[in-house]
Amino acid sequence: MERQGGPVVGRFAPSPSGRMHLGNLWSCLLAWLAARSAGGQMVLRLEDLDPDRCRQTYCDQVMADLEWLGLDWDNTPVYQSRRTELYAQAFRQLEERGLIYPCYCTRAERLAASAPHRSDGVQIYSGRCRRLTREEREELGKTRHPAWRVAVPAEEITFRDRLQGDYTELLSRDCGDFILRRSDGVYAYQLAVVVDDALMGVTQVVRGRDLLDSTPRQCWLQESLGYDRPEYGHIPLLCAGDGRRLAKRDRDQELTALKERYTAQELVGRLACLAGLLDRPEPMTPRELIPLFAWEKLPREDIRVDNW
Ligand code: GLU
Ligand code: ZN
Repeated sequence: MERQGGPVVGRFAPSPSGRMHLGNLWSCLLAWLAARSAGGQMVLRLEDLDPDRCRQTYCDQVMADLEWLGLDWDNTPVYQSRRTELYAQAFRQLEERGLIYPCYCTRAERLAASAPHRSDGVQIYSGRCRRLTREEREELGKTRHPAWRVAVPAEEITFRDRLQGDYTELLSRDCGDFILRRSDGVYAYQLAVVVDDALMGVTQVVRGRDLLDSTPRQCWLQESLGYDRPEYGHIPLLCAGDGRRLAKRDRDQELTALKERYTAQELVGRLACLAGLLDRPEPMTPRELIPLFAWEKLPREDIRVDNW
């Protein structure tokens, strides 16, 4: 069900696996402006599901960085690492409907049994373990911990993106059965994000365009779990001079390095200029930008950021 009217609730959903970089700041600023300009609330969720990569100090750092920029949030921050029971409940709900099966494939087997790559290089799982008999499962289970996949239907999922227009996937062809729980027991991002967006009352998701093709999966999980669908706006990515998207390894675009060159207001102004909200990169607070925000002004294509 598509949401109608009502107050907007946007969200920050950073993965605290290191310092924030320019790409995170860009999506946090735009998500905040989209919500605040609609008179909405903003909630914060720390996506610290992966125990190998996330640290409390990174969570603290992310919150300090958001505050430094002038981006605030409502309510108490939510940590995914503390919500395992909620994900387990949703997982059981899908399991009871017969939608989940164990996958015993090793990485090598998965690659060998995968359908041709999708255009973005992602392998589509063949559904090999969907067809295992009970005996085969028992046998394989003696030596391996399975991952858990959801069996997707041959169903087209379409959603309307505020920036990218209509986007459709036929889940069985374009995505395949995807993992909801890893073999080490950690619940997958796709499940956690759907449960959390729903339970946190999120009505508006503004995030990088790299997640556009996760959205049909998330819409389908929402439907399967009886949740409302938030509205989506997938913003273009910031790319390095060579066209690659900015990532944590671009040290000069990390906040530590950026802070040496810019004040918070200079950074915000420069990002707002890239977003088409300002003609010149003048120093600004996020709050001053609220009246200037409009979806129509935002760029659709990825943006190269040289010389920052
Ligand atoms: N935690 C994800 C990231 O930092 C964002 C997930 C989302 O917005 O749904 O890339
Ligand atoms: Zn398998």
